[in-house]
Amino acid sequence: MSAMASNPGTATSTTPSARRADDASDRPLIWVNGQMLPKSQAAVNVYDHGLLYGDGVFEGIRVYNGKIFKCKQHIDRLYACANKLYLDLEKHVSRDEMVRIQRKCIEANGIKDGYIRLVVTRGVGTLGLNPYLCPEPGVVCIADTITLYKPEMYEKGMRVVLAERPKTPIECLDPRIKSLNYLNNIMAKCEAIHLGQKLGITKPEDLLLEVIMLNTKGQVTEGSGDNIFIIKDGVIYTPPSEAGILEGITRRFVMDTLCPACGVKVVEKHFDMPELLAADEVFLTGSAAEMIAVREVIEHKNLEVTATHTISAGEGPITNTLRSKFRAIVTSDNVPED
Ligand code: PMP
Repeated sequence: MSAMASNPGTATSTTPSARRADDASDRPLIWVNGQMLPKSQAAVNVYDHGLLYGDGVFEGIRVYNGKIFKCKQHIDRLYACANKLYLDLEKHVSRDEMVRIQRKCIEANGIKDGYIRLVVTRGVGTLGLNPYLCPEPGVVCIADTITLYKPEMYEKGMRVVLAERPKTPIECLDPRIKSLNYLNNIMAKCEAIHLGQKLGITKPEDLLLEVIMLNTKGQVTEGSGDNIFIIKDGVIYTPPSEAGILEGITRRFVMDTLCPACGVKVVEKHFDMPELLAADEVFLTGSAAEMIAVREVIEHKNLEVTATHTISAGEGPITNTLRSKFRAIVTSDNVPED
């Protein structure tokens, strides 16, 4: 008997019409434009410009202990990013309503610790580019769980690849906009994945899954889905927004809360690869990745390794202190929603 025939309950093996709406295995329940739908039925219109053109914005948000971590900051960024795309989201969905949608999804799926993907699309329009022919934005909210990297990677630090592909310049498509067009990041991430495949890497802690991206001036920007920090002589540095980065909510939390709580100085400044490679510690931050140390940086040209640089033997002491503080806060009864 084939896997498909023996396991008709999986979302991948069954057409939507073949499943009942109350099928408890067809989860999570997902908010799609005003309806709470089982996973297999949660779909968008193929004329939605989010699908046709990557025209929209999104947020990735953590839920800790039933609270929406930094909810207000995520909502503020979502609406600010929509505005930058000339999408007046407020006119269609209030901020309060957007928060209510998230809470409904958490509740409907019994999520205590998990991850919310909130997606706002330009909406259904014509086959042409004109966004003004899309009368209503689309809203999708998924509350689920996420595991980006294996525990071994958090303990030992990860290896990352210096991407050959530069970051899209601010004047082309501002990386500060968390838009549905992530191809620059995805293609850069593919460099790491393809290099790992070529090198035959299989050990979980050695996998190549993240990159460091430079801007067209050669300054360090961020990873494909994470912000970057370096530590030198006890001081923490992170590229400023003008380097062409997403202004991460986790990055802000590190700067505004964790560093002061741990008595560590943090400074925004541009830096290049020689400075990064001379750092005592390097770490990445993101809602999905949380905080993770970088132990090694691999350089390549056309998927041929040209240099390998060790940053630290494992997770460095300051990164470990910050990460412990981070865990203490997100597992406490006072998870900040501000
Ligand atoms: N940079 C990029 C390109 C991202 O996609 C993300 C989010 N995954 C981040 C940084 C981190 O941002 P945040 O801490 O808000 O998740």
